[in-house]
Amino acid sequence: MEPDFDLICDYYARLERQGPGSPEITKKALGYVDGLTGDSRVADIGCGTGGQTLELARHVTGIVVGVDMLRPFIDRLNSNAAKLTMSDRVRGQTASMDDLPFGEGELDLIWSEGAIYNMGFERGLKAWHKFLKPGGYMAVSEISWLTDERPDEINDFWNAAYPEIDTVANKVSIMEQAGYEVVGSFILPESCWIDNYYAPQQRIVDDFLKEHPGNESAEALVTEQKEEAALYHRFKKYYSYGFYIGKKVGY
Ligand code: SAH
Repeated sequence: MEPDFDLICDYYARLERQGPGSPEITKKALGYVDGLTGDSRVADIGCGTGGQTLELARHVTGIVVGVDMLRPFIDRLNSNAAKLTMSDRVRGQTASMDDLPFGEGELDLIWSEGAIYNMGFERGLKAWHKFLKPGGYMAVSEISWLTDERPDEINDFWNAAYPEIDTVANKVSIMEQAGYEVVGSFILPESCWIDNYYAPQQRIVDDFLKEHPGNESAEALVTEQKEEAALYHRFKKYYSYGFYIGKKVGY
């Protein structure tokens, strides 16, 4: 079945987040970043509806630009920023992560939660390197194996869905090879998945299906998400998101 972006947007725009995470985790990752000032420029790539974009803007005083390819998500970020009277420093912009609207050496910090996989971790880290100032920071969360071995069922699922999934140690070394000194890495706790990602989906799913009666794509989307949640509950000791924070090396 072809992906129906209107339907996907309608489903995910009902949620505060479109991937696992939490305000506390965003703050924790930001704790590894030094030297931001009121003049700093921050980009949040694949920002979705911008939950973590606004959280970032609560803790940094410079300009924060959220980028996502889906217009309804960006509209939601911009309207929430206006409600919070943050529009002078927070801006959402539609763009693709492989064609970012930034100049070379322009950014002090690039952020990306649960989104770099769309380009691939290694490709994204290498492509975005040039937008950072010398000594600028890259902070990304990325699906990672927590153990060196795991059952075939979950191994096969992730290798089919995202072959770049790898151990934390290998993710760190890929980040180093892409031109960053890794200054921190940690694993997202279960609450980021269960309380902040899967439970909110359970709360919206009935309304979503009611509003798309008899729509097979809507039913398929819900089934797929339920299956992914069930897999997470069964195999959560083997994988999670890792947060990786690096400082740009070189120019
Ligand atoms: N950072 C948010 C959203 C993560 S979901 C959160 O943690 O809640 C991944 C996001 O990446 C989605 O909003 C999706 O629209 C966006 N995305 C996917 N491919 C993209 C691309 N090529 N360019 C820009 N954004 C993209």
